[in-house]
Amino acid sequence: MIIVLKPEATQAEIDHVVSKIESAGLKAHISRGVERTVIGAIGDETALREIPLEIVPGVDRVLPIMTPFKLVSREFRKENSVIDVRGVPVGGRKITIIAGPCAVENRGMLLETARKVKAAGATLLRGGAFKPRTSPYSFQGLEEEGLRYLAEAREETGLPIVTEIMDPRDIELLDRYADVIQVGARNMQNFRLLKEVGALNKPIMLKRGLSATIKDLLLSAEYIVSNGNPNVILCERGIRTFETFTRNTIDIAAVPSMKDLSHLPVIVDPSHAAGRWDFIHSISMASLAAGADGLMIEVHPDPENALCDGPQSLMPERFSRLMDDLKKMALFLDREI
Ligand code: PEP
Ligand code: MN
Repeated sequence: MIIVLKPEATQAEIDHVVSKIESAGLKAHISRGVERTVIGAIGDETALREIPLEIVPGVDRVLPIMTPFKLVSREFRKENSVIDVRGVPVGGRKITIIAGPCAVENRGMLLETARKVKAAGATLLRGGAFKPRTSPYSFQGLEEEGLRYLAEAREETGLPIVTEIMDPRDIELLDRYADVIQVGARNMQNFRLLKEVGALNKPIMLKRGLSATIKDLLLSAEYIVSNGNPNVILCERGIRTFETFTRNTIDIAAVPSMKDLSHLPVIVDPSHAAGRWDFIHSISMASLAAGADGLMIEVHPDPENALCDGPQSLMPERFSRLMDDLKKMALFLDREI
């Protein structure tokens, strides 16, 4: 349930409500909005039903949360959450553009890509060091060496870095290097991993599973937030359907759906959705029009020879031209890039 406090509620009153919730054996999650503070009481609510919270000083209303996901729901928090990634806001008026190669292949290609996407106006740099590949014979990533190159690229360009975790055993390593830890589609329901990243204080980008519903994705986000980490960014990256012409099927309606159901930022990955570089432009424009807070786009200096996902990677020059059109779209939407 959520406890909506009066606008004038004092800190002592907030603390008092929190102690009541905790003494009933529930966890209290505080969300401070512009106008008022809301407290989410998460756990077995039967114990709390005995306590008349409505009459506690500072409390305005007590409401049930109807959705199965609680802390990530729009019911819990009306305002959009803005996640701070090393000073870069994600989820506000400014649209976030994450760009970079699928995998960090070597130092040279990463630095070259980082410089070019930065010059084109990207706000975050992506690059996988641990790659979830369907075949065990495919390139698996440079692991810590790749993370070091990402850190060097960040040092030089100032772009914060987004990189994927695949195994809870790498949590300390990823926390040391990454500015956003990505939990990929294949791990969206690795609940142990979700709990581990929920214990960090670092932005997490959670990608929609290959055959996950929007509700599944939001419940996975709830795992992270309920474990104490409110910094979650949702990512639509296409789902498996009967249609096989594109690599996955982009679910454009998932964008307004998630914005409606949740306060978390929503970004779209047109590269993995389409599997084709020549569809990135149209899907990107459609995603922004649908209300996405950002995009994640694969960019490679030599897609034909890429070790991973070349066919869905843009050359830097094309990415730069796409950015020009995205800026026009942002202007139309009264947002900025
Ligand atoms: C990726 O972004 O590198 C990736 C592997 O994507 P997904 O988990 O969406 O397949
Ligand atoms: Mn990829």
